[in-house]
Amino acid sequence: MNLESRRYHIVTFGCQMNKADSERMAGVLEAMGYEWAEQPDDAKIVLYNTCTIRDNAEQKVYSYLGRQAKRKQQEPDLTLVVAGCVAQQEGEALLRRVPELDLVMGPQHANRLQELLEQVFDGNQVVATEPINIVEDITKPRRDSAVTAWVNVIYGCNERCTYCVVPNVRGIEQSRTPEAIRAEMETLSRQGFKEVTLLGQNIDAYGRDLPGSTVEGRHQHTLTDLLYFVHDVPGIERIRFATSHPRYFTERLIRACAELPKVCEHFHIPFQSGDNEILKAMSRGYTQERYRRIIEMVRSYMPDASISADAIVGFPGETDAQFEATLQLVEDLEFDLLNTAAYSPRPNTPAALWGNQLSEEVKADRLQQLNRLVNQKAAGRSQRYLGRTEEVLVEDTNHKDPTQVMGRTRGNRLTFFAGEIEQLRGQLVPVKITEIRPFSLTGMPLMPALL
Ligand code: SF4
Repeated sequence: MNLESRRYHIVTFGCQMNKADSERMAGVLEAMGYEWAEQPDDAKIVLYNTCTIRDNAEQKVYSYLGRQAKRKQQEPDLTLVVAGCVAQQEGEALLRRVPELDLVMGPQHANRLQELLEQVFDGNQVVATEPINIVEDITKPRRDSAVTAWVNVIYGCNERCTYCVVPNVRGIEQSRTPEAIRAEMETLSRQGFKEVTLLGQNIDAYGRDLPGSTVEGRHQHTLTDLLYFVHDVPGIERIRFATSHPRYFTERLIRACAELPKVCEHFHIPFQSGDNEILKAMSRGYTQERYRRIIEMVRSYMPDASISADAIVGFPGETDAQFEATLQLVEDLEFDLLNTAAYSPRPNTPAALWGNQLSEEVKADRLQQLNRLVNQKAAGRSQRYLGRTEEVLVEDTNHKDPTQVMGRTRGNRLTFFAGEIEQLRGQLVPVKITEIRPFSLTGMPLMPALL
């Protein structure tokens, strides 16, 4: 792409929130090397950050879009994005109305703009309006990483969680073949990547749609089989996977993780609620007792495993006691990280139509209570690292302190230590942890050359 083609323009409609989101998205584009163009017609990425409050704002979006859609017919490398509330509300319908669109993204996806654009540049039309990216997402953007990469292994989801639009938006499960996944990992390794996270909305479903031989009554294409198949790709030092569904999590998978040295002891297994009736209303297909047993089993094989999860508070009809059950589960299980969200109704999902919605105040209050507990627990979990030596894969400089580099432990704790990025990027460094915070650590490298 030449320089002139790396320009962007954002048109913002609506409120302060939208303006703030536009600023964040502009920041992402500039970090990707794009420059602001005064006129949309001079830009190669045109983004409309939309608002549904007033109908005329919505109409304006369509009229602006129409003009750019025509332009795109002449300039196919033009990228058209609709973000904000119209995108959230209309989702895929927007693509049908304006097929020239490349990306439709809800407001909560603003931080993921780079990742979404990369999918577009790979030739996909992308809709990102699903709540999963808040409630089931450990994929905090790790921008500019030349060290860690995501590899999709299964697209779509066949579950029917009553709060989630993913099955509508992303369609049914489609697994990639083990060979294609391994080949992609080999390419990544040649490009210098050291860590791969295998991704799927419900990764435990991996392989069940693949035609495969059944040996002794067992299908041969499970996530566990995939881990055995890819774990020895030379040059890839670490493997993670996400997101796990408690309904399908197996002891065989846990054993594989304990046995395969490159697979990190880090599990992201959303529980969503600590109450069985709410879990049933969510159609999650497991009980809180089963969830607890899974975590116990993981810890019995890997006592130090790092465990993260997602939880939703304020699901329709959630009583105080049911919310307390979620707090109790967090209290008991001691997560390293918990992504929390207040329930918010999504278009075309069953729970959105129920009459027993809770007020915003109740949801906000519960979210605050849960977050307080999460911070406390994460701080407690960090304690175990103090004085220990952890293997850190160095990814980048610490943007807040350029004399330091940052990386992650096998348990996915962000870790900082003094060092030169040029020398250390992509290296596995033993680091003695000297300082802990709830979600990050600081330490001293133990490589003699660095002391
Ligand atoms: S498992 Fe449930 S929450 Fe996750 S993507 Fe599928 S339907 Fe959505």
